[in-house]
Amino acid sequence: MSYGGPRYGGDPGRRMMSQLGARMIPIVLGLLVVGFTMIRGCERGPFGRNQVLAVKGQQEMALGAQAFQQVLSTANVEDDTPEVRAVEKVAQRLIKAAANPAFLEAAGLKPQDFDWKLRVIRSREVNAFCLPGGKIVVYTAIIPVAETDAGLATVIGHEIGHALAHHGSERMATQQMTQIGMVAAGAAMGDMDPRQRQGLLQALNAGAQFGILKYSRTHESEADHIGILLMAAAGYDPSETIRFWERMTHATRGGKKPPEFMSTHPSDETRIRNLTAWIPDAMPLYESSSDKTETEVLPKDAGPAPGIDEQ
Ligand SMILES: [Zn+2]
Repeated sequence: MSYGGPRYGGDPGRRMMSQLGARMIPIVLGLLVVGFTMIRGCERGPFGRNQVLAVKGQQEMALGAQAFQQVLSTANVEDDTPEVRAVEKVAQRLIKAAANPAFLEAAGLKPQDFDWKLRVIRSREVNAFCLPGGKIVVYTAIIPVAETDAGLATVIGHEIGHALAHHGSERMATQQMTQIGMVAAGAAMGDMDPRQRQGLLQALNAGAQFGILKYSRTHESEADHIGILLMAAAGYDPSETIRFWERMTHATRGGKKPPEFMSTHPSDETRIRNLTAWIPDAMPLYESSSDKTETEVLPKDAGPAPGIDEQ
């Protein structure tokens, strides 16, 4: 049977069907590509849910490293100061806990082979994020907002939660940015078209510097859940996370503009209610932690100096 044109020449109905068939080709091809990506990328994700990932392993690590360089290239990176040391102490405890088998089991995560790195950036932006492969960025302005080491563990724990759950890669899969990601993983992200680069950095959770793109409710809630288990395994009292979010809610009462961290991570009653419900799961990790710590107030002068901003 042939689909040659002239044969249908006199019949408008059949000609329309033929045109429709031609139009279906790209749609069918597109569905095949999506289907292939889903089969290839389908994984058992955190807490046993299924997830589709755009990039994995070395490719995901390369992307995270690229995005990290991109962020640092325009940033005011802090040297060894009391606040940097305070942030490092919290991050190191969380990184160590991320390999704790009891934590991994509670969160339904596989052990990760991340190349962890941390940089503190002097900025007025109240923000923090963790790129794929464990590249953590903390802005100085979030330190006074976090107030205590356990408050900071809540923030960084949540951000590490996004990375451990491969949310950036998952978001790339849903945004069909796989091709861009593959190219970026093999070449310099700096050479990319600025719009493509910005989209990719957003998908990878590179923070407010590149424009805010909200994570889905599922991802936010999952990062909260992983975060509270992680901070508990790191020896921080998980109930401190409730106190942190209550401080955040209080700080933004009366129509005050919420900090960047809050606008990407909305605080609401549901979040506090969920976190409260997860405390009984987190407590055994805290109780069995060999490295329990008393909550300490972070260095007071940790805020950014007036007029200094990397933007
Ligand atoms: Zn988040």
